[in-house]
Amino acid sequence: MKLLLHCMHLVEAHHRANLLRSAGIHAEVRNTFLSGAVGDIPYLEAGPQVWIDDRQDAELARSVIAQAEGAPTQPDWRCKDCGEAIEGQFAQCWNCGTMRPFDDD
Ligand SMILES: [Zn+2]
Repeated sequence: MKLLLHCMHLVEAHHRANLLRSAGIHAEVRNTFLSGAVGDIPYLEAGPQVWIDDRQDAELARSVIAQAEGAPTQPDWRCKDCGEAIEGQFAQCWNCGTMRPFDDD
């Protein structure tokens, strides 16, 4: 097992562990029972932690979390060919298949 990251809140830790599991990485939340003890021991040791099974997954795990939480959300866009409104996470028009134009600004 490898300690991947410290979280501020238990909910956050579980959310991230779930993200990793859905990406096929075995993850678990530890240190949940100490959350009432903050103040007596250093915070980072008291907060909930996300651990992964295989340390070789650490890089992938970080990118999964970064992608889920850190990546800026793409704005919705309108297809220039058919005028369909497309949600930001899609790079291609579902209606006619035109790719999202790239903005250079
Ligand atoms: Zn279209």
